[in-house]
Amino acid sequence: MPRATLVKQLVEAFSKMPVIDAHEHLPPERDRVARRVDVFTLFDHYTRLDQLTAGLSPKDQERVFDRDLPLELRWKLFRPILANIRFGSYARPAFIAAQEFYGFDDINDETYAPLSKAMQKANKPGIYERVLVKKCGIKAALTQQARTDYDEDYLIPVMPIDTYSAVFNWEQIAQRGRQIDDEAPESLDEYLEMTREGLRQWKTQRVVGLKMTSRTYGTPDRAQAWELFENLRTGACASLPDLNPLRDYLLDCMLRMAAEEGLVVAVHTGMWGDFRTLDPMHMIPIIQRHPGTRFDVYHAGMPWVREAGVIGKNFANVWLNLCWCHIISPMMTRSLLSEWIDMVPVNKIIGFGGDYCNPVEKVYGHLLMARENIAHVFAARIEEGLMDKDDALELAQKWFYETPKALYGLSV
Ligand SMILES: [Zn+2]
Repeated sequence: MPRATLVKQLVEAFSKMPVIDAHEHLPPERDRVARRVDVFTLFDHYTRLDQLTAGLSPKDQERVFDRDLPLELRWKLFRPILANIRFGSYARPAFIAAQEFYGFDDINDETYAPLSKAMQKANKPGIYERVLVKKCGIKAALTQQARTDYDEDYLIPVMPIDTYSAVFNWEQIAQRGRQIDDEAPESLDEYLEMTREGLRQWKTQRVVGLKMTSRTYGTPDRAQAWELFENLRTGACASLPDLNPLRDYLLDCMLRMAAEEGLVVAVHTGMWGDFRTLDPMHMIPIIQRHPGTRFDVYHAGMPWVREAGVIGKNFANVWLNLCWCHIISPMMTRSLLSEWIDMVPVNKIIGFGGDYCNPVEKVYGHLLMARENIAHVFAARIEEGLMDKDDALELAQKWFYETPKALYGLSV
């Protein structure tokens, strides 16, 4: 059978499987439908970076997304930029959304205005259900907006660990304490008790995980942390730098609490800005120090996909989550997956997370790309005689649904 036919058959079969969307930044639907939308909603989020890199000035980008300006003027600014980003994998889900949800084969001079109208017409309650549940087959989406006030039972919050661990001055510490206990903590240990209470409150609000970032944290030292806390409390020190021994210690305590409270710790690795600071290998001592804590390592550490793979191979408390990867680079994702199947037990890989905020329609295109990437990897293995089609379907069911469901303890 030609490879393309096999890939098509696999994608078709994957599209009937239930999906846990293992990472989003989706707000509640009521926020999305309250926003003004148009063609540029489809070029919001990740493609914004490509627009700037392609040469759109930050000032012109502001105008492109300024809905008080005429659509035609904004399209004129955007049009030459689109020509340079349209073949990129960040842009593809926008074109897929235009076609699948609004019936436009392309986004161009002829379609940008009617597409905007169609999007405005569809931007009403029910759009999440239509896109996420009906079109994508998503049973649950883990979402990070540093909030828990969702009406949608399939949107499940993951909260930032930094809420409690990244406190740099007394006002922040006192405020966290007042939120939990009506008063400021009097000691580091009291602050830690309040932190645990905060985690327990989150759990009652359906939170299933905490999110951290892979960075150059220091070795935790209780005495140093105690001293810094006292210095802030007494006013001997006004504020601490971004990375500091108090943060290292609070993070360490929270990682232990996460294990005790049954919360998964999701970890951003790679990609943004000066990505040298986000190397997944910064996590190795932390992962080793907390064997009871379950770490969900995001984004394959791109571009350190091999390093992330070896981390997934070496540590039983690590899962590897392909959220965002499929649109960063389909080809990098296919090649890393070929290597990971060699190295990493297949029950430790999580197949998909859309990683979007306002353009909910793009989740479908991203999911389709994830299905394609995984189908290509499996098809090559089937051709080599290393697995058969049934194996491929079983693995896909694990990656899209069973593994994230089990890791986060979801009852969907
Ligand atoms: Zn994200």
